[in-house]
Amino acid sequence: MSLIHLSAAELSVKLTSGEISSVEATQAHLDRITAVDGDIKAFLHVNAAALETAAAVDAKRAAGETLHELAGVPIAIKDVLCTIGMPSTSGSKMLEGWIPPYDATVVTRLHNANLVLLGKTNMDEFAMGSSTEHSAYGPTHNPWDLDRIPGGSGGGSAAAVSAFEAPIALGSDTGGSIRQPAALTGSVGVKPTYGSVSRYGAIALASSLDQVGPVSRTVLDSALVHDIIGGHDPRDSTSLKDAWPSFAAAARAGAKAESLKGLRVGVVKQLDAPGFQAGVSQRFHESLELMADAGAEIIEVSAPNFEYAVAAYYLILPAEASSNLARFDSVRFGLRVNPKGGGTVEDVMAATRGAGFGAEVKRRIILGTYALSAGYYDEYYGSAQKVRTLIQRDFDAAFAQVDVLVSPSAPTTAYKLGEKLDDPMAMYLGDVTTIPANLAGIPGMSLPIGLAPEDGLPVGIQIMAPARGDERLYTLGATLERMLEEKWGHTLLSQAPDLGATEMFAATEGAV
Ligand code: GLN
Repeated sequence: MSLIHLSAAELSVKLTSGEISSVEATQAHLDRITAVDGDIKAFLHVNAAALETAAAVDAKRAAGETLHELAGVPIAIKDVLCTIGMPSTSGSKMLEGWIPPYDATVVTRLHNANLVLLGKTNMDEFAMGSSTEHSAYGPTHNPWDLDRIPGGSGGGSAAAVSAFEAPIALGSDTGGSIRQPAALTGSVGVKPTYGSVSRYGAIALASSLDQVGPVSRTVLDSALVHDIIGGHDPRDSTSLKDAWPSFAAAARAGAKAESLKGLRVGVVKQLDAPGFQAGVSQRFHESLELMADAGAEIIEVSAPNFEYAVAAYYLILPAEASSNLARFDSVRFGLRVNPKGGGTVEDVMAATRGAGFGAEVKRRIILGTYALSAGYYDEYYGSAQKVRTLIQRDFDAAFAQVDVLVSPSAPTTAYKLGEKLDDPMAMYLGDVTTIPANLAGIPGMSLPIGLAPEDGLPVGIQIMAPARGDERLYTLGATLERMLEEKWGHTLLSQAPDLGATEMFAATEGAV
């Protein structure tokens, strides 16, 4: 196996023992990016200083410094996160060439743990979208089928990880942008409890919903990254002051668990819908059987208000986004367009916002300002907030009966590029499974559970836990991951197309 096929945890073992250097690990990933990213387009920017950082980490290790377990491991960062010395565009022309004067707190924490930043990944403009087709810099392609979307908005991070361009990545999830791309690319993605990971330096979409989290190929790798980036940050006023357990310890314990006896797994009736793609439902039900065979109690629960979740989200999100995006006023950040023949401040602002924002962003700003306007505030925004409370109560009632909730991560596998681009409603409905967790602030993980028989594309299961119960995702996720690998005899991503650039894993028998 070449270095790019190793997980972050596996790289860490080899780095710690001195078998490989961080320069070697980083170079292998940079070579892979050079070889395949012309097709995938996961990266908007590759960090020119990556090898220099890697060499510095190697020097620290050689000098006998005590380093973090993941020191020297390369990581890709969604372009929604501010990084000193690297452009941070949030996928928009509005911020083209903008280099932030500060790092997001999560990025500072990666630096402190001596990880090596590979670069910035592509995303839908300002994280609005489910396919990465709304990026102002062109779409990212799904490594399983280059004619298909990788999901969104964090399609770049998920594609980078599943195309072996990076072992781990950071994403952000406002309505599913970590979990849905993870599902569509066969990777693992976690949206942590709201307030558990700092949002400082994450370019805001909808502040009451946004949460930064890990993307990886294994549950343990996500846990290791979550341990680094999580925890209180005085710079984020919504940051929780809790002390968090080690999620890596939870994942390691989960991977060893012999049985799921005593675990109550709730299946949300409304998210196990007959309208979902047949192969998605099939793989989901097979994983329920696997959990039941291992001793888990599978209980159907009802969440009647989930029916209104997408509608409420697409009022709350545009409302908050229209307010957050008001900061792009042609004065403080990025682009400025001067209208021909000059004009007033308003004229410059209008010309800049007209030229700098793409169609989806404009659509949501118009929707949001309408929902917040004096005459309609109560009717639209107020009603959506009430629905949000009802959805939180549905979760409370469900978690009174079960320890975790599960659903398919997305209603379908990856669709063709262009298929839903002109039909925003169809794209919005694809978020039906992921949005409830954001509205309630609870944590959720997407874990690959096989390929849909009809198209051979990855399917994910979503595991949700009560707020502050992130540990449960890692414990169950690692157990399920191990059980699936035992069943298949290999990992899901070992079946991914190799894109002709390297020797792949040893050939394995049997369908996933
Ligand atoms: N697809 C959802 C949207 O378009 C989620 C976006 C996100 O999580 N950033 O809003």
